[in-house]
Amino acid sequence: MSERYSRIFSLCNNLYTEGAPIVIKAGALHKDNETSWLIAQLKFQNISQKTVKLVKVELKCFDSVERPIEENVTYEYLDLNEARDSDFGSNRPIRIANTSVRSFSARVTEVGFCDNTIWKNQTDAWNPIPAQNAIQSLISDHETLIGYKNIFGNNANHTIVETKDLWLCTCGSINHTIEQRCHKCNSALTDLKSIDTHLLKKEGAYFLACKACQSSDVNQIKEAITIFERLGDFKDSTAQILNAKDQIANAKQREKERKDTLFLLFELIAIIGIIAVNYLSAPQMFSGYSSLPVLIGFLLVLTGLFFAIKQIVAYLRKKIFDFRFFYSILMFLISTGYAIFVILQL
Ligand SMILES: [Zn+2]
Repeated sequence: MSERYSRIFSLCNNLYTEGAPIVIKAGALHKDNETSWLIAQLKFQNISQKTVKLVKVELKCFDSVERPIEENVTYEYLDLNEARDSDFGSNRPIRIANTSVRSFSARVTEVGFCDNTIWKNQTDAWNPIPAQNAIQSLISDHETLIGYKNIFGNNANHTIVETKDLWLCTCGSINHTIEQRCHKCNSALTDLKSIDTHLLKKEGAYFLACKACQSSDVNQIKEAITIFERLGDFKDSTAQILNAKDQIANAKQREKERKDTLFLLFELIAIIGIIAVNYLSAPQMFSGYSSLPVLIGFLLVLTGLFFAIKQIVAYLRKKIFDFRFFYSILMFLISTGYAIFVILQL
């Protein structure tokens, strides 16, 4: 089944005439395939600081060989309440009576604001605002791009454009030349026009290094140190190097403590196992050094005792009294008790 509406013409995007409070963002002519009616659609953007409540437009229509057709079509958008930057109009179709129309040009003739002031226009000179390019067309280096976004915000995705009495910000917002800062992202036009790529690259590298320092991965922190060393005296890179080295030392200490705890756990399980085996085999297994399980158990107990004492001393020095401390105490008591028991059996 075919679509009910066919698009037979599209306007250029972002049409503007100097001083206008709104932009014609898009326009199209559709044909209703069931009734053969023609419907024009326009989409506007309010770029004024005032809320728009009325827009009058005039369409100049042309036939399929671009000859002007009859009288111009006029249309009023009433009961609007459109603040700055809002898009509107596309939900209000304009019926074109003459079915020979195949294209049109559009101009806004009047805009009424919430304070009952009116902007009027008679010019036909509504021309496209030059398109913005992706910021990557200007900045291809990754670190420099990160630095750019770090300074101008994550929405800084476009090159700036200056045209007529407007400038288009890196965030895509439309500002008037009388505005020194973007009304949306607050970036200053002078800053955007005078970017120092060398400085941005440093800014980006610094940002990436700081981010890497938040990782628990020692290798990433080492990479961050390399970047901070490359940055030299940029910002607080020297202090960041010291912090990063502390982080690595702490991470290594944590890893050591983790391994010690695992080793103690292994020791405890082994000792309890040996005690259980010996107990179940009693009394003949406790007849002296010739009993291999007793000897292995005794050696394990001595090893466990050594590590338990080592850990207890370490935790006392650091004043760590969590489960690890009490776990070491338990280990110490079991090891000592078993060692005394075995010695008494010899
Ligand atoms: Zn902006």
